[in-house]
Amino acid sequence: MSQLLQQLQTRLSSPLLTGTDISARYQHDWSSEPVGMPIAVARPGTTEEVSVIMKLCSQFGQQVVVQGGLSGLCGGGNPRGQELAISMERMSGIEEIDSASMTMTVKAGTPLQVIQEAAAAQGFVFPLDLGARGTCNIGGNISTNAGGNQVLRFGMTRNLVLGLEAVLADGTVISSMNKMLKNNAAYDLKQLFIGTEGTLGIVTRTVLRLFPKALSRCSALLAVTEFPKIIELLHKVTRDFSGSLSAFEVMWHSYYHFITDNVKGIISPLGERHPLYVLVELEGGDQERDQLLFENCLGDAIEQGIVTDAVVASSQREREGFWKIRDGVAEIGQFIRNTANFDISVPISVMHEFLDSIESELVAKVPAAKMLVFGHIADSNLHIICYTGRREDIKTMYGIVYSIVGRFHGSVSAEHGIGVQKLNYLHYSRSPAELALMQTLKEALDPQGLLNSGRVLPK
Ligand SMILES: Cc1cc2nc3c(=O)[nH]c(=O)nc-3n(C[C@H](O)[C@H](O)[C@H](O)COP(=O)(O)OP(=O)(O)OC[C@H]3O[C@@H](n4cnc5c(N)ncnc54)[C@H](O)[C@@H]3O)c2cc1C
Repeated sequence: MSQLLQQLQTRLSSPLLTGTDISARYQHDWSSEPVGMPIAVARPGTTEEVSVIMKLCSQFGQQVVVQGGLSGLCGGGNPRGQELAISMERMSGIEEIDSASMTMTVKAGTPLQVIQEAAAAQGFVFPLDLGARGTCNIGGNISTNAGGNQVLRFGMTRNLVLGLEAVLADGTVISSMNKMLKNNAAYDLKQLFIGTEGTLGIVTRTVLRLFPKALSRCSALLAVTEFPKIIELLHKVTRDFSGSLSAFEVMWHSYYHFITDNVKGIISPLGERHPLYVLVELEGGDQERDQLLFENCLGDAIEQGIVTDAVVASSQREREGFWKIRDGVAEIGQFIRNTANFDISVPISVMHEFLDSIESELVAKVPAAKMLVFGHIADSNLHIICYTGRREDIKTMYGIVYSIVGRFHGSVSAEHGIGVQKLNYLHYSRSPAELALMQTLKEALDPQGLLNSGRVLPK
């Protein structure tokens, strides 16, 4: 065992994992990006232990990879050979719920679902929500600035973080555990660690915003004939629900029918087939009043020819049935392999033209390519799954789609991050000056390139 590992072994409260003790779960996230074996897995139990690890790694010039719940989709948490993996799994737990301030203080390794449930038990909601809720950790959510289903109303993770504690590459602990919404006392340092995917520091604790739990929820699945009507519908529900619109998920027919035709137990509640489907939800404070408002608005939309068919959920079970179609994406891997998965954003005003360009360029260059499309739309986010079934086509499809994203001034990552997967495509969304400033920040905070090296930025 090397000198570094020996010192870590004596200074940490939990033994290092090495050799065959490193189980498969520490070796990869949900992406199919390359993996390597870490030299060891350290599992710190406190911020002080994270600091000890980084002080020693700094002394020995040892590179590390930080691991949260490893539900990431861009390979950021995948160890490369010769790195020390730092798993945050033992730093889990809720430290405080401050009802008066509507905040929760938690350790970074706490699973998102545990946070959601603890908030709900006190009559609050922590509104970050994504399919990987049971697996992902809040530290991973913060580091990737995760989006999810409720961005439209509550913003990305960045908007939900009030305070944060992080350990720098040299082991320095930066504690900004602020509880106030307003705090302009100079630089907002927590932003350095939100969405930077562990390249500038290791998030160890955080203060999160809580919101009062909604007392009403109305849901419907709608059918629409063409994209301009989706925009009309979005504007109408935003206006009519006066701030209570909580979900607006659009599914193109390719995606919707793939799920409802193939996935066992998922059935379309609409009789006919349509070009586009929208799952729309309102959350408010009075079920009876809100239901009336909701149904009146959708009734108008049908009369005005914006919506062609609609099913309003009359029970929680029906509502869950709508969401199963939207969340059915997690089942796609059973049916198709070798997919190129895109998590991109483009201005909604050009979204239709953008999709047309992808379709025509893909058909021209990769004739066998098929596309499944769905997205959060109101926040400009589209998810596109392209596939031919052949592994060798994936790179070509990435190249085609990302260059079109660049042409339409979109983002190569709306919410999943860059990791190692999109490193070579970042220039489509960021200028040389922006990339140079990112590199300057990285070099200032981590001059030896120890933290998550080769993720997000080349060094
Ligand atoms: C079924 C499914 C659905 C998903 N849906 C969504 C969605 O709707 N929206 C969305 O945004 N994402 C989604 N994701 C992607 C993923 O869940 C998110 O990116 C999540 O935030 C990752 O959290 P994690 O704890 O699993 O992080 P990991 O995968 O462990 O790590 C992700 C990155 O963050 C770094 N990191 C982790 N913890 C820390 C820490 N404490 N300090 C510093 N760096 C750290 C890692 O090094 C890595 O670079 C989904 C994934 C799956 C599998």
